[in-house]
Amino acid sequence: MSNLFLRHAKSIFLKSEPIQLTLFLTNRCNAHCRHCFYSNGGQDISKKELSVNDYHKISSSVGRLLWLAFSGGEIFLRDDIAQIVNLFYRANNPGIILLPTNGLDTQVIRANVERIVRECPESVVVVKLSLDGPKDVNDSLRGVKGAFGKTMETYKSLYKLFGEYDNFELGFNSVFCASTQGSMPWLCSFIKNLDDKTTHTVSLIRGDIPDDDEKNIDIEKYKKTIATLTAGLKDGSSKIFNFNLSRLKAAQDIVQGRLICDLISKKRSVIPCLAGRLTLTLTETGDVYPCESFDARLGNIHETGHDLRKLLTTDLAKEVIARITSSRCRCTHECYMIMNILFNPYMYPSLIKQYAHILFKRAWP
Ligand code: SF4
Repeated sequence: MSNLFLRHAKSIFLKSEPIQLTLFLTNRCNAHCRHCFYSNGGQDISKKELSVNDYHKISSSVGRLLWLAFSGGEIFLRDDIAQIVNLFYRANNPGIILLPTNGLDTQVIRANVERIVRECPESVVVVKLSLDGPKDVNDSLRGVKGAFGKTMETYKSLYKLFGEYDNFELGFNSVFCASTQGSMPWLCSFIKNLDDKTTHTVSLIRGDIPDDDEKNIDIEKYKKTIATLTAGLKDGSSKIFNFNLSRLKAAQDIVQGRLICDLISKKRSVIPCLAGRLTLTLTETGDVYPCESFDARLGNIHETGHDLRKLLTTDLAKEVIARITSSRCRCTHECYMIMNILFNPYMYPSLIKQYAHILFKRAWP
């Protein structure tokens, strides 16, 4: 991990090839969230999902990855998830593997996560459990009775892996939306007091969702939530990851919170977006996009013999990616903010300042 950024240093300047992939493995899900931007609308397209063989060819078409993120749908509904992760691990040696889950099926999740952590020893494997509030809020929003209890059962089961594997990280992610904004102070405090290792992040509601009312949020409450998370990172009271670059990640989280609040207030782009240049998103049926907004398709992986690099050489792909820069495209999506901050040298003074502060505070609390 320590040489992770050295390995991708040329991307800071050239930004010429994808080093972050997001793979939507399925749109199937065992929850029915009102705030989900990837809901299947009742359509089962599982027969069209990319196969292990497809993923084998795709992984061979790209180089080393900084970060491999999975998404869905509930990713652990795919029986072959550990096999797919293993393919990318061997072909692309990702520094970080991100596995988000609603945590509803404890046994399946625990078994697969343990296998992935064991089979990918050189990658940091981060599991993010979704939790959106106290029982009533969480279960109503997710459309599953008992969801809170099941997710917490999975948390307890996964937490035991900390003692067994150095490359394992566990966190919660919560969606900030109309239904959750009132209980965010409770949720931040609840997760902060759980243990001394589990991290917490908050994602702002986005995308086309089943219930548009969930977008009616109070911006001041969002800013207060970000201020709470930031204060915990700065004063050393909140957990950060264990891996070598965890302080840099915490510094980036602080800068990111400020930028998103700025973007919302100013309603204009606050940082150039590198989607398509450093990041790509692949759906379960093979469509390729620069990012998860799913606005402009670059093509389908079947059109280029599963070759992602080749797909980026088409006129359409070049035109779409150039438009992201020229239109000063903007959004609050946290995953893309991470890349936009870490690979933009203009952000380094802010990053270094926050990094030094975190280093000092955690060394001399
Ligand atoms: S700003 Fe957001 S929507 Fe626009 S390209 Fe970047 S990630 Fe996608």
